[in-house]
Amino acid sequence: MLVMKFGGTSVGDAKCFAIVKDIVARAARDQTVGAVVVSAMSTVTETLLSAARLACAGDQKGVEEKLQYLEQKHLGTIDALFSGARRDAVRAKVLDVLGEFRRICGGMALLSEMPRRSMDAGVSVGERMSSIILANYMDEQGIPAEAVDAVNCVITDDNFCNAKPLTDLTRDALRNVALPLIEKKRIAVITGFLGGTRDGIRTTLGRGGSDYSAAIVADALEADELWIWTDVDGVLSADPKMVGEAAILDELTYEEASELSHFGAKVLHHKTLRPLLNRTIPVYIKNTFAPEKRGTRIGPPHAGIQQGAKSVTSMTPVTLLTVRSIGGPGTTELLARTFAALDHSQVEILMVTQSSYQDSFSLLVPQNMAERASAALENAFRLELNHNYLEPLTAQHVTAIALIGEGMRGIPGVAARLFGSLAKERINIIAIAQGSSESNISLVVSVEDRGAAVRAIHREFISPAEAEASSPQRTQRAQR
Ligand code: ASP
Ligand code: MG
Repeated sequence: MLVMKFGGTSVGDAKCFAIVKDIVARAARDQTVGAVVVSAMSTVTETLLSAARLACAGDQKGVEEKLQYLEQKHLGTIDALFSGARRDAVRAKVLDVLGEFRRICGGMALLSEMPRRSMDAGVSVGERMSSIILANYMDEQGIPAEAVDAVNCVITDDNFCNAKPLTDLTRDALRNVALPLIEKKRIAVITGFLGGTRDGIRTTLGRGGSDYSAAIVADALEADELWIWTDVDGVLSADPKMVGEAAILDELTYEEASELSHFGAKVLHHKTLRPLLNRTIPVYIKNTFAPEKRGTRIGPPHAGIQQGAKSVTSMTPVTLLTVRSIGGPGTTELLARTFAALDHSQVEILMVTQSSYQDSFSLLVPQNMAERASAALENAFRLELNHNYLEPLTAQHVTAIALIGEGMRGIPGVAARLFGSLAKERINIIAIAQGSSESNISLVVSVEDRGAAVRAIHREFISPAEAEASSPQRTQRAQR
């Protein structure tokens, strides 16, 4: 049994819906498609968010423009896909949902605020509309299908905008909805991104959360595979905007894919793999617009794992915060208090490097959390800072680079080659860290050195193999 997920660009317009329908039809010929999870049409979530902001700011005209855009986009698609009574019915359903959003904007305008709970009720209408259109279109084209609103089957806590699914309740609810449909040979077209509390209040799983929804559905239905359909051929060995020779990777382990998403690669929503680990359900990342290509498989490690490094990724700008003690607290105490303070202010730490001799250490945090992090640390160490037991904290905008591959484990000389490749380009390394799993070596360079560093590392570790990759033989394999 398969679960498939289609992203926003895969349902970008009427033509895309037709392509998606063909993909599902083809898969359903020789496998059971347990469910289809769908994102909002491209640009819709973004438009809903800006409409809400405009409403809150009292810009009535701005809101009206956004609503017009949303209405035209959806009705235009419906008119191109349907005719007759079905068209009227789908139009009415979609207009109903959009009407709900209009009223939510009205409420926000009245109150001049956008409570998180209302935001979730608002931004999740995108998935509700796309699932109605897709389910009806598939159904009309002879693939029996039904739109399923995840508000009643992805049950979450009430941490609005970033809700956490409650595993057991969600599992039961999803099975109760989807299994009877599978029995009747109907496909559930489930809204990605959204869920609901036990009381049925709408929540969302965070931006880009449809991938995560799909993984939750795949686990609940005990699917054999999850196919995530997007607009690229798979996961690349580097950002092709930076590295011309970047190539599609045939295979990644769960760990490698998590490292990649942690370090800024836009592979998958970062929580996506979690629900899949238990049953080791493999994921394929595939291109809706080139469905014959094999895509990238993400799964558990196996014996034939590729040696060496697979992918290099970079994240910029990120902020390197340095704390240095001068005769004040020792490193252990410094670290303990730092982690406690950052945890309390919900700052994500990307990397830590430490020197026990100098009683100093550096932390890498996302730039949008840097101010919060500095404030938290200044507060935690106010006394020490006032009495000069600590040097003033420094914050530096930098680039984080990670070289990823489980096949690097236990292989001597990787770090030497990595640093050597940068030295050759005269690139200064500001900080270094290697996870104990040895599947990732990360380092920090200046913002200006980003492109040159990524290219140098790719050339050292990945391009030699890639010379072979661009030969017709290997390309065929990648596209199978
Ligand atoms: N539509 C949502 C977003 O744009 C969820 C998703 O596409 O994954 O964030
Ligand atoms: Mg997405």
